Amino acid sequence: MTPPSPPRHQVVLESARMLSPLVREMVFRVEGEQTLSWAPGQWVSLVLPLPEGPLPRAYSISDAPDGTPRFPIAVTRVSGGPGSSYLHAIEPGARFECVGPQGFFTLEAPPGGPPRRASVFVATGTGVAPLRAMIRHAAAVEPDASSAVPLTLLFGVRHREDVLWSDEWTELARARGRAFTFEPTLSRPDPAWAGRSGYVQAHVAELVRPHVEEGVDVYVCGLKRMIDTVRSVLKNELGLSRQDIHTERYD
Ligand SMILES: Cc1cc2nc3c(=O)[nH]c(=O)nc-3n(C[C@H](O)[C@H](O)[C@H](O)COP(=O)(O)OP(=O)(O)OC[C@H]3O[C@@H](n4cnc5c(N)ncnc54)[C@H](O)[C@@H]3O)c2cc1C
Repeated sequence: MTPPSPPRHQVVLESARMLSPLVREMVFRVEGEQTLSWAPGQWVSLVLPLPEGPLPRAYSISDAPDGTPRFPIAVTRVSGGPGSSYLHAIEPGARFECVGPQGFFTLEAPPGGPPRRASVFVATGTGVAPLRAMIRHAAAVEPDASSAVPLTLLFGVRHREDVLWSDEWTELARARGRAFTFEPTLSRPDPAWAGRSGYVQAHVAELVRPHVEEGVDVYVCGLKRMIDTVRSVLKNELGLSRQDIHTERYD
């Protein structure tokens, strides 16, 4: 049996702001609907009305559903990229078609519940968007941090100002204690940076290893090269199986 095709909607851009020098957060509203539901981690295909013709591009929804017809995305401006350049140029009020939500990169958890196993989330750049949806969902459905499984976010970017939602992660780590750890790493740190440096692949084994014996889910999102390297560390150095490793590629 062929799976049903994902729903098609008209969406309107409600608001937008820069999260970092290259990343624009955009909040869309689905027209004519009371609500939009998605599983944290899913994405939508925006059908961008370019002068040369419609251009479909996929974007992860960057938050958990909140019972409204609104959903946010975070778009990296890729130099010379037609889709991301268009999305960085449009103003609130712009309308086009959206297909989704869709995708299977979602939290390993009972429906509506928190994850049961320790989870490590690994992202570079806007690969953190679907992980943010998962982490915020997990925290919302398990308000008692003392009984929550530990979640760790390993987030790699070039410069300090590229760390998306930095204040939010710091606050979540403060509020959740051992239930949430935030580990940013910079590939081009400034001299005053006291945190981790280098690529995520240099740090992932250290952060996952303490959870291997009890069982761990690792979620990896970003560009293919990073995902392949992280997957090989998880399999070859730590002995994780395919079922433990969940990935979403942006290219
Ligand atoms: C399931 C899925 C979810 C995605 N979610 C997001 C998202 O939440 N945010 C987002 O910005 N992009 C996301 N992307 C990538 C997005 O769909 C486009 O590929 C991207 O915006 C570039 O499109 P373009 O037309 O501007 O450039 P193109 O000319 O189509 O792409 C040029 C090159 O840009 C690189 N690239 C693609 N995405 C990125 C990126 N995020 N950061 C740096 N380099 C990139 C790739 O190497 C690609 O070959 C997702 C892709 C997939 C498949």
